[in-house]
Amino acid sequence: MTKKQGLAELGEFGLIERIRRRVGEDSLLRLGIGDDCSVQAAGRDQDLLTSTDLLIEGVHFDLAWTAFDQLGAKSVAVNVSDIAAMGGTPRSLHLGLAIPPSLSIENLDRFIQGFLMAAQDYKAVLAGGDTCRSSGPLVIAVTVQGEVAPGRAVARSGARSGDLVFVSGWLGDSALALRQLQGGTRPGDALAQRFHCPQARALLGRRLGDSGLASAMIDISDGLVADLGHILEASRCGATLQLEAIPLSAPFREHLCRNPETIELALTGGEDYELLFTAASESERDIAILAAEVGLPLTRIGSLSKEKGLRVIQEDGGLYRYRQKGFNHFAT
Ligand code: ADP
Ligand code: MG
Repeated sequence: MTKKQGLAELGEFGLIERIRRRVGEDSLLRLGIGDDCSVQAAGRDQDLLTSTDLLIEGVHFDLAWTAFDQLGAKSVAVNVSDIAAMGGTPRSLHLGLAIPPSLSIENLDRFIQGFLMAAQDYKAVLAGGDTCRSSGPLVIAVTVQGEVAPGRAVARSGARSGDLVFVSGWLGDSALALRQLQGGTRPGDALAQRFHCPQARALLGRRLGDSGLASAMIDISDGLVADLGHILEASRCGATLQLEAIPLSAPFREHLCRNPETIELALTGGEDYELLFTAASESERDIAILAAEVGLPLTRIGSLSKEKGLRVIQEDGGLYRYRQKGFNHFAT
């Protein structure tokens, strides 16, 4: 008799695939399960983008080191980030809250204050939600909707062999801050900010969508290796990355000098919410212009190949071996 498969073997993405296989076609759905947002046809002028993200106490955040206003802002940013990853513009948010009765009104007010301020920054309105008691942890469920010109959503599946791989901003800061918090040290302000208050790259995402420059795109929530892996799988190609090209912030570099193994966090650490995208090699100049216009570095970190799999090349030409790929909710 074969052993029954458990969640640990199936993994987060095996479980999603198991659900996806049971879903039928829908004529208005341009893109269903498997990308940063679903895309629905919504008239002549726009397609509708929708995404949902959960934040659970004890899984995504620890109240021992989380301020409620920051938690509210982060709940918005991680959702808006998925709209940016499709090249769209956020419009509305729905907020589901499962609240343990011990939570104070003051802290709830702080949460809502942070949530609404972030929503305003991204020009998205809180349009509804659901509120109930939790018999366990605080659970925050946010749904974001946005829009994109018809047929212009940037999926994970559009990358082609020969395309270049770009990433916005800097990688690894959020994971480094989390590692320091877990180890009982206080991260410096800049690193702490990247973990507690990530910024969704909303303007960049929209501009990449409008310009048609990106052939495929995803936001980095689970780590560079894991999230590039989703693009490679959806686009059926492979990639080679240059380790020394990965953009690192000044505080990350400073820490790296003393702890060289920390480089792994830039590859596999989650929650940076930078945009990872591919583009035809002829677009490199336009991407440099866009970087200057949005005021954010857009760094070329590698290229795509027909040969499947992901290779990370060190400065000495050798293959860099990472221990884990990235975050998976059911990994043991
Ligand atoms: P992201 O990291 O961009 O938020 P996820 O990795 O959470 O995306 O999800 C991958 C894809 O699987 C998305 O298209 C998401 O909508 C879909 N998905 C995740 N969980 C479920 C579920 N329980 N039922 C249906 N679709 C799901
Ligand atoms: Mg995403």
